[in-house]
Amino acid sequence: MKRRSIVRLPKAHLHLHLEGSARPSTIKELAELEGMPDVEQTFSNLPEFVQVYAKAAAVIKRPESLKRICRELVEDEAAQGVWYTEPMGVPQYLGNQHPFRGAQIRLKEFDTDGAWAIMQEGFAEGTRATGTEVGLMMGINRGFGVDGTVEAARFAARNKDNGIVAFGIAGDERIPPEPFAPACHIAREAGLLVVPHAGEAMGPESVWAAIKSTFPHRIAHGVRAVEDPFLLSYLSDHQITCDVAPTSNLLLGVAQDIELHQLPKLMDAGVPITLNTDDQLFFGALICDEYRLVRDTFNLTDGQLADFARVSARASGAPEHVKQRILKGIDAWLESEPDE
Ligand SMILES: [Zn+2]
Repeated sequence: MKRRSIVRLPKAHLHLHLEGSARPSTIKELAELEGMPDVEQTFSNLPEFVQVYAKAAAVIKRPESLKRICRELVEDEAAQGVWYTEPMGVPQYLGNQHPFRGAQIRLKEFDTDGAWAIMQEGFAEGTRATGTEVGLMMGINRGFGVDGTVEAARFAARNKDNGIVAFGIAGDERIPPEPFAPACHIAREAGLLVVPHAGEAMGPESVWAAIKSTFPHRIAHGVRAVEDPFLLSYLSDHQITCDVAPTSNLLLGVAQDIELHQLPKLMDAGVPITLNTDDQLFFGALICDEYRLVRDTFNLTDGQLADFARVSARASGAPEHVKQRILKGIDAWLESEPDE
């Protein structure tokens, strides 16, 4: 049976990390440039992965390296038929004024404003070349503690009409979300989307904790919500979107096998779902690979794939006219002839 090309399906991509979406070849080149060892890729769970991630991020030491990573991300997204992308950037990895303990301090001559200006230049170059739009999710990493998270939220709030659309919490889920609630409150009050990671390494209780303390618009992952029927109903009733990343779940042991992945249970419960790569640098799957994987595993129709894409547009922080453009593009895709 012929299907419609997934690359042609217009989509938004909402759960991806800036450094973790870099090209492997670029990270290798930058490591050489800085005289640093090749980034190893050995991990089998989230805490190990967080360590590997920090090492890869540490090769981005120069303004031109950061700008390049940002430009290439937009180019790579556009090649996958992503019309709007919402990468998470963590200020602990940027600028020299950040107070986080143990942070990788890079771009030493720049403060967070300076680093953000460089990122914006890179994104803008990518957008000019491809038409794919960008909204940044400013993130905080639980592993770096609470100090400075309120400042990070204030920074995001100040830049709400300057390219930042969301505020996220990433990092080791064993660290609970409650201490980060004040930062999330500032972001929400400023009109930013609040998107904590939860329900990945930890079970439903981590999703409940994120809901009760941060009042999220979306949950990054959320797949382990399927272990609690009451939570599934809550996510469905309140239409809290889960930004699911199937390949990441497989490689970090969140799902034992793709046939056993939590996706169908989330779909059956009526939870809004988007498909995402999380960190394609480490997990290898691009966004179209993720769509293809779930289509082929669960025998999904093009209509169901279009639904994921529609949710990705609606639940994003994109401006309304961008959302509408994507939604119209999805309708046109469904009306087009199957070609794959
Ligand atoms: Zn993630």
